[in-house]
Amino acid sequence: MTDHQEVDRAAAELTNDQGGFPEQEQPPPGLTEQMTPVPDHGEESWIGHDRLQGLRALITGGDSGIGRAVAIAYAREGCDVALSYLEAEQVDAEDTKRWVEKAGRTCVLVPGDITDEETARKVVCDAADQLGGLDILVNNAGFQWARREGGIEGLKTSEMDQVFKTNLYALFWMTQEALPHLGKGSSIINVSSIQAYDPSVSLIDYASTKAAINNFTVNLAAELGPQGVRVNCVAPGPIWTPLQPATKGGDSMPDFGGDTPLGRAGQPSELAGAFVFLASPREASYVSGTVLGVTGGKPVF
Ligand code: NAD
Ligand code: MG
Repeated sequence: MTDHQEVDRAAAELTNDQGGFPEQEQPPPGLTEQMTPVPDHGEESWIGHDRLQGLRALITGGDSGIGRAVAIAYAREGCDVALSYLEAEQVDAEDTKRWVEKAGRTCVLVPGDITDEETARKVVCDAADQLGGLDILVNNAGFQWARREGGIEGLKTSEMDQVFKTNLYALFWMTQEALPHLGKGSSIINVSSIQAYDPSVSLIDYASTKAAINNFTVNLAAELGPQGVRVNCVAPGPIWTPLQPATKGGDSMPDFGGDTPLGRAGQPSELAGAFVFLASPREASYVSGTVLGVTGGKPVF
């Protein structure tokens, strides 16, 4: 079996015949160990090649899901990492920390609710202080709420506040705070979504933030290019992470990801390559202002 057949088989084994998962729900923010099956973050598969040797990264939402897969891969590529997350996710953050340390790298934990401006800014300062600087900012934290009836009439301001502040305001605040630390060869990687291109009715607020994140990426790349700082974005398709059972109806899990050309949801481990590439000062030296889709075949244009 070739390497890519091996990866494909491992990912498919975590799904059922429809490409989805057993019915399940959790309260937000969701925890990894309570998922059936537990996602694959590359714990047993990612092989590092020193592509980020000596760099330092802050990964928001780095405790679980896509952020955890990025943390594991970055550590194995030689990067020290700081993880931002909610206090309720301490157990997930500590698990991720263990994997980073197993790779021989430093892992700094900086919990706090980034919908609060002061906290969001302090998370970046604390991360940079404790890592001795910052080379990579991965703006990955995100929230959605899909357990609501009807369309825009049912949308509450409190829900919009949580979605817009987590996905957008924090992105602006944390980027501002990181800038003094970033220099030539540094990069920022944002996380948008297939929802920016093919929005679901129930996710009108979330999809709006993700489209804005794409625009933010192109805009900021133009501003920071002269300083040698690259700004890019990853747009995931349906990925098996705590966000799904924590924010959607449990009965949507069996079909989750089944409508993609590849016929299944992706695993967090399948996103790590995009984040390593975009962060790498050597491999991606001329890549800025781009959105890289990892969607199982759904179009991102
Ligand atoms: P996840 O639940 O594992 O990660 C999201 C993280 O966001 C949480 O772990 C949490 O630490 C962080 N977060 C949320 N609200 C926060 C707050 N107020 N303060 C601090 N941290 C907060 O799920 P994931 O799917 O890995 O999500 C990562 C990113 O990927 C998100 O931006 C999400 O929108 C995006 N995304 C996910 C999918 C998918 O199908 N899973 C698809 C497209 C985009
Ligand atoms: Mg989490």
